[in-house]
Amino acid sequence: MKKLCMPVFYIFLPLIIPMMVGLTFPRATGSRISFPFSNKAEISDTITTLNIKTKTTEKIPLETYLVGVLAAEMPASYEEEALKAQSVAARSYIISKMGGGNPDHPDAQVCTDPNHCKGWLSEEDAKSKWKKGDKNKYWKKLTNAVKSTKGEYMTYNAEVVEAFFFASSGGKTENSEDVWSSSRPYLRSVESYGEALSENNVSTVTFTRSQFAEKLNPHLSQPLDPSKSPSISEPQRTEGGSVRSINISDKTFKGTELRSILGLKSANFTITQSSDSITFTVKGYGHGVGMSQTGANYMAKEGHTYKEILSHYYTDIEFSKL
Ligand SMILES: [Zn+2]
Repeated sequence: MKKLCMPVFYIFLPLIIPMMVGLTFPRATGSRISFPFSNKAEISDTITTLNIKTKTTEKIPLETYLVGVLAAEMPASYEEEALKAQSVAARSYIISKMGGGNPDHPDAQVCTDPNHCKGWLSEEDAKSKWKKGDKNKYWKKLTNAVKSTKGEYMTYNAEVVEAFFFASSGGKTENSEDVWSSSRPYLRSVESYGEALSENNVSTVTFTRSQFAEKLNPHLSQPLDPSKSPSISEPQRTEGGSVRSINISDKTFKGTELRSILGLKSANFTITQSSDSITFTVKGYGHGVGMSQTGANYMAKEGHTYKEILSHYYTDIEFSKL
């Protein structure tokens, strides 16, 4: 696996580094995600994973694997119903990948790289990131969330739902085709409540004109002159509120593309210019497609069940069981 994995790692290095310096949320760079996976799943209760830390391929029971996914993908402090919703979403996502495998690691259905497939933590690694008094309590809480939804997954028209999720939105989720190339009938833009209550919902990034020019010039045929303020159009927006496209100098950028170039937390941003700098005010964190984890936690606090949460974020889905 070593031979196979390392080139993949290097290809993704330019994307992995920005994640390591602050964009920790897995599916952060929306431009990288497409829908390459077969949905004709051979559904099984075991899964072959490539552990990128140990470089080994392992076959493990799906339910055991999911606890580690939960540990990596959602704060264990979240409400039980949100964690249960996350369990079913992650199970659905993994099952949707079982048939097709992944061209980057054909021997494993998923890898443990959050920037590539799904994050996953061993019990030891998960516990090492929690405070002493939380270690056993949190692991038990995640195990219970998986156990109490054992085998449950979502379908749409008898196909397994590719249940994407992300950290937080600007108040609405995105239609899948507004972020990637493919439309999925269950990945529609819906309201996501309680987002603004989370303290990290809005972030700002300021670039000097020189820094901005340095980042943008490789993408422009007419380089920006740092002594002048750059020409930036009003953006076109998606139904979910993210920037669909924006003109900067001689080029039209997709919002997701600009997000990736500038390392923004999401493509839902506004821009203000001062005499010598350009500031991006960004709402939410992640690609915005599927379930917002912050919104799910808010719904759980409001008394909604995990099935209500999932039915809210994934349009017209049904529940099935392995
Ligand atoms: Zn992978």
